[in-house]
Amino acid sequence: MAKCDQGYNCEICGEPVKNIIESALYLRYVLGEVQLHELFGAPERHLHCDHELSRYIRHEKYTHSTGVELPDPEAESERIERVTRGYERLREVVSQGIPITEYPLK
Ligand SMILES: [Zn+2]
Repeated sequence: MAKCDQGYNCEICGEPVKNIIESALYLRYVLGEVQLHELFGAPERHLHCDHELSRYIRHEKYTHSTGVELPDPEAESERIERVTRGYERLREVVSQGIPITEYPLK
């Protein structure tokens, strides 16, 4: 198998990242922290494995793994709001079939 065909396993747990809704890389892209051209070369991670990012999600559809240290909601409210909006956006682009170039939040 060509090396580029193997690029979608999570660098932390080694399991495949099957859906972009569970991808920390795509959430960072939606947030504008990763550029489009970087998506295909950057290491993939599950949201559940990337606690540094996912701990900021506050969403009824997202259940935190045990042992995740949640941020102080007052001290870090901006980051919580931003990452949670990004997570909502990620769910929206998938369910609505929005083109990849339109994913990032304005
Ligand atoms: Zn993983």
